[in-house]
Amino acid sequence: MDCNYREILSEQEHSFLLQTRAFMEREIAPFAEQIDRDDDVPVEVFEALKPYLYLTVPKEYGGEGHEEIYDCIAVQELGAVCPALVTYLEVAQLFGRALMISGTEEQKHRYLPRFGQGKVGAYALTDLTPGSDPASMTTVAHREGEGWRIRGTKRFITFADIADMMVVFARTPDEGGVSAFVIERPYEGIEFIRRNEWSGLRGHKAWEFSLDVYTDQIVGRPGDGLSLALKVLNFTRTSLACGHVGLATSALDLAIRFAQERVVGGQPIFRHQSISYAIVEAKARVEGARLLAYRAARMSERGVDHRAETSMAKFAAAEALIEAASTANRVLGGYACNLDTPAERYLRDAFTWVAAHGTIEIQKMTVSRSLFSSR
Ligand SMILES: Cc1cc2nc3c(=O)[nH]c(=O)nc-3n(C[C@H](O)[C@H](O)[C@H](O)COP(=O)(O)OP(=O)(O)OC[C@H]3O[C@@H](n4cnc5c(N)ncnc54)[C@H](O)[C@@H]3O)c2cc1C
Repeated sequence: MDCNYREILSEQEHSFLLQTRAFMEREIAPFAEQIDRDDDVPVEVFEALKPYLYLTVPKEYGGEGHEEIYDCIAVQELGAVCPALVTYLEVAQLFGRALMISGTEEQKHRYLPRFGQGKVGAYALTDLTPGSDPASMTTVAHREGEGWRIRGTKRFITFADIADMMVVFARTPDEGGVSAFVIERPYEGIEFIRRNEWSGLRGHKAWEFSLDVYTDQIVGRPGDGLSLALKVLNFTRTSLACGHVGLATSALDLAIRFAQERVVGGQPIFRHQSISYAIVEAKARVEGARLLAYRAARMSERGVDHRAETSMAKFAAAEALIEAASTANRVLGGYACNLDTPAERYLRDAFTWVAAHGTIEIQKMTVSRSLFSSR
């Protein structure tokens, strides 16, 4: 079955996909098992991925100036070989998008070119309150002199330990609502409390930390932070959906290979419809989710409202990933969750991953609002 999507992508996008796939398989895939086992990412792997941090940053700010589909393709192909590292690209996209959407010209020129210099960005929205309800956050900012003092505790903040700059969201009670700020190294007033750990996406490091920091860099107007956070997620959920699809594809490829090679009772097990149909049905869901994600990216590139389409792609991809990882393990029989195959890693990675950028239920809520608001 064709997995090149030539009929959907332009010639340049298609050749970027082929180059990226070859790069990820050659440079990153050989490290995937080691990263999972050691729960650590070799420096040369981070270095190799740096050109993918600024694909969609406009050229005048030091980026490649590509359309969104390039982020989708990069994340899809990296997700297929090492999803733990997708978070590295995603936090750069989150930081970069926030600046691209609401930063002043001065802020864009100050921060965005840093990706090209190998700097890392992070994105601190979630705090101790539920991530699905960011309006209830308890991190607070008050005016102090020419700037702001932010106090609170953030959790689950990916790669905060290596980030050179961070977008931080805080409630601004004096102005109303939530506001967004940039803080940068050296992080005076940040204390790392602990690492947040999952059994999947090993190597990806997320942190809980307290803040008592001063910054004069507000992004956008006071009180507009929540709307900015949602606009940013409306971009990054599309590429993350492609990451889910990438991993789901790898899980099903493993199931297909096993079903062809495993001979039981004189015939390969794919000859049993109970096996082949389980794989076929999971495959159809993965390909459907991919199309939804590509479509959302295209709508975004054309400036069309795509909130519902993005959320639909994100939950469809998350559900397709869980189904693909479960199916792969089921097909493997006694090798399910056996450490001799990557299937158990796929399962851990899948369940660890699907809540990032908003849970399945929250995506469905967004789609539901859109479907029913116009009736
Ligand atoms: C791997 C990973 C990396 C992450 N990295 C970052 C990061 O870099 N920066 C950052 O800011 N955050 C990050 N997050 C946090 C992520 O955005 C939150 O985990 C997510 O938004 C869910 O929040 P929560 O975990 O507090 O779940 P909760 O909001 O507490 O939700 C718990 C459950 O309730 C359900 N639920 C909640 N509200 C509703 C509703 N209205 N209707 C139906 N069901 C509902 C949810 O779907 C979920 O099943 C990361 C998370 C993960 C897993």
